[in-house]
Amino acid sequence: MILFGDYHTHTKYSRHNHGKGTILQNASVALNKGLKQIAITDHGFNHMFYGVRRRDIPSVKEDILNAKEVTGVDILLGVEANLISNDGQIDILEQDFEFLDILLMGHHRMVKTPTMKDFNQLIIANMFGSPYKLSKDRLNRNTTAFLKALDKFPIDVITHLNYGCPTDTLAVARLAKEKGTLIELNGKRINFTDQELEIMAEEGVKFIVNSDAHSPERVGECNNALNTIFRLGLPLSQIVNIDKLPKFSPKR
Ligand SMILES: [Zn+2]
Ligand SMILES: [Zn+2]
Repeated sequence: MILFGDYHTHTKYSRHNHGKGTILQNASVALNKGLKQIAITDHGFNHMFYGVRRRDIPSVKEDILNAKEVTGVDILLGVEANLISNDGQIDILEQDFEFLDILLMGHHRMVKTPTMKDFNQLIIANMFGSPYKLSKDRLNRNTTAFLKALDKFPIDVITHLNYGCPTDTLAVARLAKEKGTLIELNGKRINFTDQELEIMAEEGVKFIVNSDAHSPERVGECNNALNTIFRLGLPLSQIVNIDKLPKFSPKR
């Protein structure tokens, strides 16, 4: 089983030294590891500390062109957008589709939300509510927020689902399947039970394996996900970037 591409990598454009490397460094590591394609997906604009800035996008584009030329690796421009409201709002504007080749979306802490209520329920409650006291209300609220986001936006990939924000996994995965959205098997963390993974696989949910690298040397490092796939015998035909290249719907 060969990984053809890594569609979740961060760079210095995720601010405050959160992402460590340059786009060229990510692409060079990808080349050395035999990847044919990568995506640069820095944190969404509403992240208070790490978010890429809209005004940096022209420079991201320029770096991508240069890195493609130097390495020959194909590079997609994306963002790992943030879920910012109970109503499924994410931090992407209509105008952003002008430059997006791929749209990732996940839950992150410390993001600017439209209202205090969203902040309290989506961020604070999920930060301090221990998994052992996960209330039905919080689980339903989180799940609804993801379902609404899937309905509203052409999301290609849901990143690290359930990490820091527990949901009804199967409800989210079923709508994702219907919408053509991929469920990420993250190279660092998988917050699904084996049973959930087996049911998703049985129901035809499509997966993508990504490193979520925050430094160049971790680009293409997906052993945690690959081991899970191997251990459970998940069908490789349902993993879009193993032994083949995925296609993402055009955004513009
Ligand atoms: Zn993330
Ligand atoms: Zn990430």
